[in-house]
Amino acid sequence: MGALDLDLTPLQNYDGLIDADARQEIVSVAQSLKGLRVVHVNTTPNGGGVAEILRSLVPMMRGLGIDARWWVLEADERFFAVTKRLHNGLQGRPTSLCRKDVECYWLHNEEAATAIELTFDSPDILVLHDPQVMAVPVFLRNGIRTVWHCHIDLTTPSKSIQARLLPLTQFYVRCVVSMQNYVHSGLPSDKVSVFPPAIDPLSPKNLPLSPEKARQILGRLGIDTSRPLVTQVSRFDPWKDPCGVVDAYRLVKNRVPELQLALVGALTAVDDPEGIQMWRSACSYAGDDPDIHIFPQPEVGGDETIVNAFQTASSVVVQKSIREGFGLTVTEAMWKGMPVVGGNCGGIRLQIENGVNGYLVSSAVECAERIVDLLGDPGRSGMMGVAARESVRRRFLMPRLLLDYLRLFQQIVNGQFCQPEHCKETKANAVAGLLAPTRASRTSAGKTPS
Ligand code: UDP
Repeated sequence: MGALDLDLTPLQNYDGLIDADARQEIVSVAQSLKGLRVVHVNTTPNGGGVAEILRSLVPMMRGLGIDARWWVLEADERFFAVTKRLHNGLQGRPTSLCRKDVECYWLHNEEAATAIELTFDSPDILVLHDPQVMAVPVFLRNGIRTVWHCHIDLTTPSKSIQARLLPLTQFYVRCVVSMQNYVHSGLPSDKVSVFPPAIDPLSPKNLPLSPEKARQILGRLGIDTSRPLVTQVSRFDPWKDPCGVVDAYRLVKNRVPELQLALVGALTAVDDPEGIQMWRSACSYAGDDPDIHIFPQPEVGGDETIVNAFQTASSVVVQKSIREGFGLTVTEAMWKGMPVVGGNCGGIRLQIENGVNGYLVSSAVECAERIVDLLGDPGRSGMMGVAARESVRRRFLMPRLLLDYLRLFQQIVNGQFCQPEHCKETKANAVAGLLAPTRASRTSAGKTPS
């Protein structure tokens, strides 16, 4: 993979979607950053929220004269198995790492640092997304300013992963998280910027699609569009709770026998090795109910217009997550005027005002009750949908995220934050910290503690 080819997106495309003041500020800050060399780094070009954001954000930066690039780390299955455990650990699942896991993580991060330096020859700012590439700065020459953008729900991280990983923030100029709640003791609070993600209203996924066209698309996929449909669009991931969605559907089905359910989750995120296993569990949990439609195919979940059709033409969209860094799928559906039934966690709480523009739920029973409410009261559902779209327009569209980033880059360039300098000893300590045996790995290497 490496460096991806990217277009330029002119800011004018977003006229009418940006307030005049914000537009003026974007143009003036970008002017001061012309020619700045920025590289965003992550581990998948498709599938998942980070890829979704970078696909729009980086071309917008380029359209403003910033030399922005996107570089994707290519790695093997073992690396992604380790990094998914780091991801899960940061989201709160007790996780242990054995020495080989840490070495594998370390080696790929070192190789990535070398490759990035070879490809880009000392960029001005490097933005590393999520824990997969968090150790890269340890191996860079001093002088490259680095930002860690963490998109994960950090409400209750596992103590052992927190203790191993978060000290790596000392190598960064700045860390970015999506919510104030995530700035807790594990992160150096004086180093953290808080700004939430955003969706691109001009991507095929989010452009207006007529209900007729949307229904046609769903019809071709075997959905009976004359009957109610509940949909969740999500990677097959334990935190997204697909089986909990099936539970909620079954409870509603007792009262609304004609109900159908769609779980859309293309298995395209190369950095998510749990996807296949979770998809199989969801299929076996769903059993042979002909009204449950599960779509793991890239031609379905990887097609932006098809995802748009599900978010436009479903009767109710749910996102029944247990942890969620932000939840772009919630934003996308709200932008289409859908009041989403979302898990009462992480970034979903930032987006849904309970009972005003959607519902927050903490169990399958609650989820089912809210689905019934929305199905039974289209008038109220419509009003909540209007409020949902308006809140996305005000807070979660791409130009706002662009401006947050530009302001951050300007602060960095102006020297507002200290650039960490590291001698060999601090680097060695960072390695030792990651390698330190946890209680679990001392007793049974590689096994999750009970
Ligand atoms: N997505 C998609 N097809 C799928 C599943 C997800 O296009 O089959 C997209 C979804 O529309 C959203 C992103 O992937 O843009 C998921 O972002 P989110 O923040 O909801 O969750 P993440 O996967 O990053 O945890």
